[in-house]
Amino acid sequence: MTTAMTKTAMTIDDARQAIASGKTKATTLAESFYQTIAAEDPKINAWLSLSRERALQQAARVDAMVTRGDALPALAGVPIGIKDVLTMQGAPATAGSKILEGYQPPYDATAVARLESAGAVLLGKLNCDEFAMGSSNENSAYGPVHNPRALDRVPGGSSGGSAAAVAAGMAVATLGTDTGGSIRQPASFCGVVGMLPTYGRISRYGLIAFASSLDRVGPFTHTVRDAATLLGVLAGHDPMDATSSPVPVPDYTADLNKPVKGLRVGVPREYFAEGLDAEVRAAIEKTLDQLRAAGCTLHNISLPHTQYAIPTYYVLATAEASSNLARFDGVRYGYRAPQADSLNAMYRRTRDGGFGAEVKRRILLGTYVLSAGYYDAYYRKAQQVRMLLTRDYLQAFSEVDVLLTPTAPTPAFRLGEKTDDPLAMYLADIYTVTANLAGICGISVPCGISKTGLPIGAQVLGRHFDEATILRVAQAIESA
Ligand code: GLN
Repeated sequence: MTTAMTKTAMTIDDARQAIASGKTKATTLAESFYQTIAAEDPKINAWLSLSRERALQQAARVDAMVTRGDALPALAGVPIGIKDVLTMQGAPATAGSKILEGYQPPYDATAVARLESAGAVLLGKLNCDEFAMGSSNENSAYGPVHNPRALDRVPGGSSGGSAAAVAAGMAVATLGTDTGGSIRQPASFCGVVGMLPTYGRISRYGLIAFASSLDRVGPFTHTVRDAATLLGVLAGHDPMDATSSPVPVPDYTADLNKPVKGLRVGVPREYFAEGLDAEVRAAIEKTLDQLRAAGCTLHNISLPHTQYAIPTYYVLATAEASSNLARFDGVRYGYRAPQADSLNAMYRRTRDGGFGAEVKRRILLGTYVLSAGYYDAYYRKAQQVRMLLTRDYLQAFSEVDVLLTPTAPTPAFRLGEKTDDPLAMYLADIYTVTANLAGICGISVPCGISKTGLPIGAQVLGRHFDEATILRVAQAIESA
């Protein structure tokens, strides 16, 4: 358990059991994860900052509970990492941007606070694309993350650091965020489980906003069971986030192993069209066979507006981003350009020097689609198409219980391969963005390995607030 080898597979239950049984102390476990980080991260670059002092205090509290014989909470002593778009008091929050350099938020995000209350040991903050804009983690101002399964490949994005940290055994689990695929796609590229909960299921309080109507917080884990455990800790209404839902939170681990026999699995034909890699297709077809063998019925269905998903996403996400990112002006947070002779010059230089190229591209695009002359043609139209895309899913879910698709059209691509072609990069999210537009839940679970050893992920999509069913199907895929 002290070697990096076994840690690459350590689950929440493994860690919690080892601590509860006295086999290891939480503080010892935390130290051993910091050792793994010191050994592995120079080649991966997943971590932007470590919060050792706070982590060791959290671990010491757990050790004291064990000594006293107290009942242990769900995540007692479990080492977890946090994507750097979530606030953690006393730790920097850069969102992968230079413009937030030096910013230390004065409060914890609700998701972070809930992990800590459940006994988790929060190791530090994880690298990501700047303001979560990207599909490869190459848009971080702090350098790209390397895929632990193949160092010359991207880990996916934007939560690349979160996926890579779990895959490399540098954390038992991590938090990421998903606005258009940023949890599911990197999970697929790195061979771990990544979950997109229903919009409103987990509070966004303390999440540095990219596109507020699409952004979600969710877990990266080794196993589906761990994802269920974390969702149970994170989900629920939060008075600090008006969009968080009061829908009751079930015990997500209770029905995980309930047979999937009789479940209706929809296979949307639009997700198996041109551009899908042959090995990914074969892995998904094998997964469908396994589900059929487990007693699921398969149904060919159509989501007829799918072709409009990427353009709709890039109108709405950029519109919201242009508004959300207006607050970074050199006055209130982080970086301020030196030597400006007027307030306006200071704003301009701060934003010019503080934001990277992709973020600027999106602010420009978002400002354009919201401008008076183009609002009806782009923004309003995109809102209407968003409704059509949502109805496609609602119609499908009146006939089937879940949908099964590839998570991404290809396995992890090479670093630098798509950096000069934003459109090719945007297409990496072709199977994931629609779920964000519709508000439904999804999960990516490893389902195969390419001939060159790269992980392939299957995506299970489900009805609003029906995380329990997609977890069950993902569990069946994992067990097969
Ligand atoms: N890759 C998509 C984008 O660049 C999605 C990012 C995300 O989910 N945060 O916007």
